[in-house]
Amino acid sequence: MPLHVLDHPLAHHVLTHLRDKTTKPVLFRTLSYQISLLLALEATRDLQTIEKDIDTPLEPMKGRVLAQPLVVVPILRAGLGMLQPFHDIFPDVSVGYVGLERDHKTAIARSYYCKLPPLEGARVLVVDPMLATGGSAAQAITLVKANGASQVGFVCIVAAPEGVKTIQSAHPDVSIHAGVVDRQLNDSKYILPGLGDFGDRLYGT
Ligand code: URA
Repeated sequence: MPLHVLDHPLAHHVLTHLRDKTTKPVLFRTLSYQISLLLALEATRDLQTIEKDIDTPLEPMKGRVLAQPLVVVPILRAGLGMLQPFHDIFPDVSVGYVGLERDHKTAIARSYYCKLPPLEGARVLVVDPMLATGGSAAQAITLVKANGASQVGFVCIVAAPEGVKTIQSAHPDVSIHAGVVDRQLNDSKYILPGLGDFGDRLYGT
């Protein structure tokens, strides 16, 4: 499936301030909200709709309404920083949680929590702001598929080429939506130039 990268002046503006190391958690959370809202709109472009007959004040017409359940699955904890805009624009969205923690030395993800709503027939978006090695993302996607998801997308703010490759080879059916694709990973598996540890910057830890 193709990789979609945001191409909007607001995305460039927001990303620059997210990357700036002097940006404090309170502004970092607002900026995360703004870019996640842009990503939420892009990642749901292919949601199914059905025709609905309505009457405007002037005449009858055929409109369209959302017809497919949407489930968003943030990978804990940084994924929580992308959740709110999905709630705000899709009031009926269901939320599942997958807890995957990256070992800072080995960079290997360990699952410690999984709570998912029914996924059959839903468009399922796994969200995690930083797609680094792709190990956690691929693991979370495997988990949602094992629980019945068949239409899965992955949404992140910053992607590394290595992470994109990992998802594309493990899950070629999954569309990826990223705010930007950065240059590479460093030896500690952080994204360069990146923005540092997203969870730490979001929560001030
Ligand atoms: N997770 C982060 O928060 N930042 C990175 O650069 C890579 C993974």
